[in-house]
Amino acid sequence: MALIVQKYGGTSVGSVERIASVAERVLKTVKAGNSVVVVVSAMGKTTDSLVKLANQISTNPSRREMDMLLSTGEQVTIALLSMALQELGQPAISLTGAQVGIVTEAEHTRARILHIQPERVERHLKDGKVIVVAGFQGISSTSELEITTLGRGGSDTSAVAIAAALKANYCEIYTDVPGILTTDPRLVPDAQLMAEITCDEMLELASLGAKVLHPRAVEIARNYGVELVVRSSWTDEPGTRVISPTPQPRSLNDLEIARPVDGVEFDTDQARVALLRVPDRPGVAARLFGEIARQNLDVDLIIQSIHEGNTNDIAFTVATPILKRAEAVATAIAPVLRTANPSPGEAEVMVQQQIAKISIVGAGMIGRPGVAAQMFATLSDAGVNILMISTSEVKVSCVIDATDGDRAIEALCQAFEIREQGSGVRGQGEQRSGGAGEPVRGVALDLNQARLAIRQVPDHPGMAAKLFGLLAEHNISVDMIIQSQRCHVIDGVPTRDIAFTVAQIDAEAAQKTLEQAAVELKWGEIIVDSAIAKVSIVGAGMVGQPGVAAKMFAALAQHQINIQMIATSEIKISAVVAQDQWVTALQAIHAAFELAGSDKIEVPA
Ligand code: ADP
Ligand code: ASP
Ligand code: MG
Repeated sequence: MALIVQKYGGTSVGSVERIASVAERVLKTVKAGNSVVVVVSAMGKTTDSLVKLANQISTNPSRREMDMLLSTGEQVTIALLSMALQELGQPAISLTGAQVGIVTEAEHTRARILHIQPERVERHLKDGKVIVVAGFQGISSTSELEITTLGRGGSDTSAVAIAAALKANYCEIYTDVPGILTTDPRLVPDAQLMAEITCDEMLELASLGAKVLHPRAVEIARNYGVELVVRSSWTDEPGTRVISPTPQPRSLNDLEIARPVDGVEFDTDQARVALLRVPDRPGVAARLFGEIARQNLDVDLIIQSIHEGNTNDIAFTVATPILKRAEAVATAIAPVLRTANPSPGEAEVMVQQQIAKISIVGAGMIGRPGVAAQMFATLSDAGVNILMISTSEVKVSCVIDATDGDRAIEALCQAFEIREQGSGVRGQGEQRSGGAGEPVRGVALDLNQARLAIRQVPDHPGMAAKLFGLLAEHNISVDMIIQSQRCHVIDGVPTRDIAFTVAQIDAEAAQKTLEQAAVELKWGEIIVDSAIAKVSIVGAGMVGQPGVAAKMFAALAQHQINIQMIATSEIKISAVVAQDQWVTALQAIHAAFELAGSDKIEVPA
């Protein structure tokens, strides 16, 4: 007999008929000899409607009252589903988050789960009941016993956390699509179903905008080795399996907050090539990386900073043995780009050898802004200057001077409690290898991001730490952090621009926070742009495969789409484009990597 946790999303329980159909499926699972815990969302678009109601009363409602309001949605569904099961003759009991003992931080509207007290659920299961749990909600650990919610889409997280706490055999996420697809089928109808995906790939896709799974649910599945499947509640098709590696043992206490970092990686075999003052127009990145791909050279990190005047800087890292050839390509192409767009300065190639990449590895890095901030602060305290930053949900990497390498490793291992002797520290060549097969598994789109840029940030160790520490204090998650390569000397102080993306809802708070600090820290202007779209490709197989970035940039260039920013990690490449170009961008990239299937995916209304 297996213990199965099943989660049904809003559309799957969107009407009385749908709830009856879910009850049938649950009953079938029980009749097959399993114990079942069901986690449900609010019916249909109930949560959205509740948000609208609140906004009719207040433009800035208190987060505590929002939790009180939004948590009611799920409570309707649990009672109705429990009744539907009882009608079928199946003993069932509905329980709120508090009744299940889902204990969270007191952080309203985005609480993380601390632990789950499984005793009551286990008792009811022993009595042969199906337990129907309200997803998305918990109860604070403080004496006030406040109702909390986990953040929009959080029912997935409730389900996987319960599966981890109960040591369930597996967790099924039932939704309105056949599983995890190469992209959102509402935007690209010939998106194709994947039979399986690694949790690292899924974490990236989810944090880059694929809302089919809440990133925190994937984090918990990865950390506790929960077997996770995403399926349609309309069919009996097997859906998509999310594959987790064998987890390191970890306590169920502080379930979502303990040990975000489980390893430190370093790679000293790196060199950096930067092209300064390349024209800011479609096709430039495609041309540069197209030529590099034709030479079969593999680039690791790529960044393109936001434009200054009508030019950009593009920088990338390569392994030292191929540096000479990469440099030759960049040097050959610089004059071509220059004549195409006579700009005030000269396009120029800069090469830096003796650099190292140091990374912290884990899950949920972007979702936990304090982690990257702690990394930057640790490096700063150790006197290490950061040359380049790459963020992703599974890794934050900093390119530093190679001579700082040992000091950086030691400081990070200490800060994140990684034992140097153990398996948590990996040198070059021992890092996770790329997945087999297709380099790109999926394409994600995020229209809810804003870009912030701070001009003229003094360039010395500790600036990134200060900046991202401030944002982390306000719980603001940051992605695509890019420092310009160009250096302007102002009053004798070298400065660089820093740009990054945040969720649109955090943009105003981020701007305010930074403006307050700007005078004291001698920063220049702070610029916000919300009319952006972030398009990303994800795939573990892109590690060590030349030409992936070139193909993505060429697809955009073919449609005359200008790339405003580029940031990569080992398993993703993100580009920021103008918001009104997102449809073309997404479809062009999906087509370029030949991700389309033969069937059109129909999504229930
Ligand atoms: P639920 O209410 O069941 O939790 P969601 O609306 O949160 O469902 O998530 C399912 C939706 O996610 C799909 O209807 C689809 O539009 C969207 N989606 C975005 N990216 C993907 C993807 N790569 N694969 C599948 N669905 C995706
Ligand atoms: N009902 C909540 C929401 O719409 C939680 C969820 O469905 O996962 O965000
Ligand atoms: Mg969802």
